[in-house]
Amino acid sequence: MTQTTPAPAPSPIVTAHAQLAAAVRHLGYDEGTHQHLATPRRELHVAVPLRTDSGELRMFHGYRVQHNISRGPGKGGLRFHPDVDIEEVRALAMWMTWKCAVVDIPYGGAKGGVTIDPRGYSQAELERVTRRYTSEIMPLIGPGTDIMAPDMGTDEQTMAWVMDTYSVAQGHTIPAVVTGKPIALGGSLGRATATSAGVVHVTDSALREQGQSIEGRTVAVQGFGKVGSHAAQIFAARGARIVAVSDVDGGVRADGGLDMARLLEHVAATGTVVGFDGGDPITNADLLAVDVDVLVPAATENVLDETTAQAVQARLVVEGANGPTTPEADAIMAKNGITVVPDILANAGGVVVSYFEWVQAHQAYWWTAPEIAERLEHRMATAYVDVAEHASREGLSLREAALVIAVKRVAEAHKIRGLYP
Ligand code: GLU
Repeated sequence: MTQTTPAPAPSPIVTAHAQLAAAVRHLGYDEGTHQHLATPRRELHVAVPLRTDSGELRMFHGYRVQHNISRGPGKGGLRFHPDVDIEEVRALAMWMTWKCAVVDIPYGGAKGGVTIDPRGYSQAELERVTRRYTSEIMPLIGPGTDIMAPDMGTDEQTMAWVMDTYSVAQGHTIPAVVTGKPIALGGSLGRATATSAGVVHVTDSALREQGQSIEGRTVAVQGFGKVGSHAAQIFAARGARIVAVSDVDGGVRADGGLDMARLLEHVAATGTVVGFDGGDPITNADLLAVDVDVLVPAATENVLDETTAQAVQARLVVEGANGPTTPEADAIMAKNGITVVPDILANAGGVVVSYFEWVQAHQAYWWTAPEIAERLEHRMATAYVDVAEHASREGLSLREAALVIAVKRVAEAHKIRGLYP
């Protein structure tokens, strides 16, 4: 048998452009409008040199892309990952534009990235990288211009360093320049688990449409980071059975359900789900093919492609990650009758509570945890209904409907504002 080398994964920007083109076609927009929506508004590529703890000099690349700022300031995370490149950041920034528009919060879309593997560096080194990057992109960011948040490889401590670097440069404390901050610096209650809570809310909405509920459903979660681990815990607390989870190193499966409390102890002790004795080992690829009610890809881009999508047995896929599904995989899952709740809706809970955090910082008045939970649930439920109704009215998938709604909101903002000059 001849072995064929698998084709390299397409850049996420290819997926993002294909999705936009489909929405533009559906909306009947002209090519000029299409290109206006496709073209990033501003991009900055900066050098990020680091003096390591051992005295070596290492160079990284940093990016900040503002894809669109017609509905409000740029908004989006900062990613630390060795594979970050300008095309990935462009795609992620574009998805932020549509995400903010579909949940109707007054932001455009932006994203940042640094080509560093944070696992290989000390906290002191990561602090220096974060501060240098922040200083280099200073002309673009600000509480009314572009607001960062955590993403893959960054966390609330990273945001504290960004906020401090920016505030020191401006000469006074400006909490609203970032979201996802520590609570002690004006972070919002509920922000740390907001993306996961949103994933569970939309799953609930999608299951209800099928006459089901979360209780008793089987769930597999790919990615046991900020999004996946909390989603698994919230699902389990609501009576679902978590039958498989994975992280970059591998996964674990137990058809009778994983004991979440013991699994979390294992992860706290070892840093990975691998080796947990309450289940059998499973690969990341096999996890996608487990026969479950709900599959949550919460790791990274392009994991569901034309090969892996063929094997998906879940009835419902809820995208905790950004861009986990290629257009080819979308078509295969649609043909196989699988409902996909798209990333720009499914994982929008994080940016929704980021928006609440930013509003609270502007008011200098903090809301209670129940207030935040209730407002998040309301936003997610409203956005889900908007998308689901549009999808059934127009005969579209949930992804197509979400994109059409979002793209239309952004295009309308462009149209009403007009062109300058
Ligand atoms: N990085 C998260 C995302 O991809 C959150 C962005 C934010 O809160 O600004 O949605």
